[in-house]
Amino acid sequence: MKRKTLALMGIVMTAILVLSGMVVASPPNRGTDTANAPPEFVEDLPESKLTKIVFIRYAPGFQKERPCDGDGVCGPDEKWQFCSDCSKPGGEEEKPTACYDFLAGSKPRWNWVEDYYYSDSTLENPSDSAVSTWEGATSGDIFGNGVSESNPWGVYDNKNAISFGNYEDPNVIAVTAIWFRGKNIYEYDIMFDTDYFPSSHIDLPTVVLHEFGHAAGLGDLYDPVCVDNVMYGYLSEDEVKTTLRDGGTAGIQTLYGEA
Ligand SMILES: [Zn+2]
Repeated sequence: MKRKTLALMGIVMTAILVLSGMVVASPPNRGTDTANAPPEFVEDLPESKLTKIVFIRYAPGFQKERPCDGDGVCGPDEKWQFCSDCSKPGGEEEKPTACYDFLAGSKPRWNWVEDYYYSDSTLENPSDSAVSTWEGATSGDIFGNGVSESNPWGVYDNKNAISFGNYEDPNVIAVTAIWFRGKNIYEYDIMFDTDYFPSSHIDLPTVVLHEFGHAAGLGDLYDPVCVDNVMYGYLSEDEVKTTLRDGGTAGIQTLYGEA
């Protein structure tokens, strides 16, 4: 696919640094970021400098068991993902009025292009479709190419891993870990749970599109008015959402520009 301006900037900066006598030993497509500055292709960042968040996709129906007493106070047993009494942790702003949300208030996104690595051939086509769908809504490059190679989920290793596995919570159908700092995403790992896949009732392409939305920088939606959006946090059996609605399009274009 297309590696471009930013990658070229990285090569140019690397050349400049080498010429100026500095040692550059890191991959050219990784970068640091400082506050609101654009990404600099100087050095890699250790995991300790990054924020790691994990998005969990629960099984259909699971959310109905969540306790929400609706008393206007976020109780100790109430979860922000499920109860309107609770706001997002970390003091981040509440959900915008449109049906899109981000990983964090700084709107972290990909500012360079990296390939992703699928461990099972059945993940190749759904991943490719998800990438095409998200990238087709914007002029920006988000993802690189799919490569057949197994890598572990949840390990910060410069490999964006797409795999099947068994998360310890039996109610989980998919889980995405993302490492970011400031405006930059550094890595994501997506795992589809073998408790539910292969499945005849949970649409894998729909879940893949949702998880790649996280990988691009989008958050979950829990307002019922957003139910048709692929980033909606709940999923029903036999539900298929493989195209972007207005919210998904607006969200991805906020991060990467209009098509
Ligand atoms: Zn999600």
